[in-house]
Amino acid sequence: MVQEILGIHHATAIAGDAQQNVDFYSGLLGMHLVKLTVNFDDPGTYHLYFGDEMGRPGSVMTFFPWPGAPRGRRGSGQVTTGSFSVPETSLGYWTERFKTHRIAFESPTVRFEEEVLVFHDPDGLELELVAHAGADGRDPWVKGPVPPEYAIRGFHGVTLAERDPEAAASLLVNSLGFRLVGSTGNRLRYQVGAGGPGALIDLLAVQAPPQGVVGVGSVHHVAWRVVGDEEQRVWRRTIAAAGVNVTPVMDRKYFHSIYFREPGGALFEIATDSPGFAVDESIEDLGTRLMLPGLLEPRRDQIQQTLPRLTLPAATRGNEAATLTVEDDPTDALTT
Ligand code: ZN
Repeated sequence: MVQEILGIHHATAIAGDAQQNVDFYSGLLGMHLVKLTVNFDDPGTYHLYFGDEMGRPGSVMTFFPWPGAPRGRRGSGQVTTGSFSVPETSLGYWTERFKTHRIAFESPTVRFEEEVLVFHDPDGLELELVAHAGADGRDPWVKGPVPPEYAIRGFHGVTLAERDPEAAASLLVNSLGFRLVGSTGNRLRYQVGAGGPGALIDLLAVQAPPQGVVGVGSVHHVAWRVVGDEEQRVWRRTIAAAGVNVTPVMDRKYFHSIYFREPGGALFEIATDSPGFAVDESIEDLGTRLMLPGLLEPRRDQIQQTLPRLTLPAATRGNEAATLTVEDDPTDALTT
């Protein structure tokens, strides 16, 4: 029996402006910029990774900033929402923080006995903070602007909208090992591995909406965790045997990836926990300078000239800031 999928590895979305993205996820939400690199397939585009101290799988949200690209469209066959786990009593802190920084949010609601605060990032991507009583043992990033007692612990789950939720559910349950753990209204909740925060996906049955379109402000894909290459090989065979087209293994430097689409069209990835983000810089230095894979290193000067300038968050101070500048308070930009 193949080892179970362990939960969410990361989710990747499209942003507009890179600086606005860093200011929001690092400066406002207090996530750690753990890797500053480029899209390996399109090195004129940043790839920004936010997570906990060392970017543990399950904590990582990543972005391709495509300035000037068309906006995405929310719809079927799309991961429409990323949910982050926060401590049970923290939503009061977060609503005050959002008010201070003029971030619109909806009144908290209760779903599966957890408090949910819905808001959007500057590009319109729907996000949630989920405050729950169950202990989330994951450590927060403690050097960011959010006090540790309120800070994001990592992903809680993702929401996948589907016109035909049964087809997606069949893949999740029959091929990928997910288990149905709850339902409320038009929402079915599945978990995988040990379950709980970081291992959840909600299937939302939606009435005849248009097919989702990937663009600025939408999720590009969600990646599920396996430990290493051996487990990934087995999963690749399992997915192919289910009649699903799956890519060859791709080396993403910080993990190895295979990609496939669920029946509704959303892009899924299975990514390895190893080797992780400390493979090319120390944990203390994560996210402080532009990292390039070996093949692109000879083109560093050209790539740096193409990329827009970025001011890094204060908690991510680098000694080498070739095209980068560092300011004291990244949240200043949010209040103007
Ligand atoms: Zn990915």
